[in-house]
Amino acid sequence: MAKTVYLALGSNLGDRAANLGEAIRLLDGPELRVTRRSSIYETAPWGLAAQPWFLNMVLEAETSLLPKVLLGRTQRVEARLGRKRTVLNGPRTVDVDILLYGRFVIESEDLTIPHPRMCERRFVLEPLAEIAPDLRHPTAGRTIRELLADVAGQTVNRLKES
Ligand code: ADP
Ligand code: MG
Repeated sequence: MAKTVYLALGSNLGDRAANLGEAIRLLDGPELRVTRRSSIYETAPWGLAAQPWFLNMVLEAETSLLPKVLLGRTQRVEARLGRKRTVLNGPRTVDVDILLYGRFVIESEDLTIPHPRMCERRFVLEPLAEIAPDLRHPTAGRTIRELLADVAGQTVNRLKES
């Protein structure tokens, strides 16, 4: 049974828009079909401030891949795009996070779904609200639109329609 999943993409190194485009190209396929994509947003770095600004966006996809297999797939795309894991929250050519996997709740050592920090990140909620405002977060019990209304004070600028 195919599930609807939401993925967050971010890039703050090199040609950031090209990195996002390449990540989508590598992710999309018969087992993970990208159905919607948000606009691209430019956002101030999170955590470690002394680094370039990010481009962020969110994808909706239909997938037959089980959650751990999907994580393996997203990590392979990160590796293909040359991401080096150096500093936590540091610069990266591309970061792919699994935000939601249907209404599944998963807590294992290497995978937590819903993504544990999505509710406090405007750079995730704003693009997600663009494509799925009425989606109800499975554990917070509130819609994406409601969650977005609660996060303020983070700079997130919509760059372009896509
Ligand atoms: P971050 O995205 O928080 O900056 P990383 O991309 O380096 O950090 O991810 C660190 C680890 O988070 C990965 O090794 C992965 O196993 C784990 N992880 C747990 N839950 C998720 C999720 N929902 N999506 C992506 N990675 C996750
Ligand atoms: Mg990540």
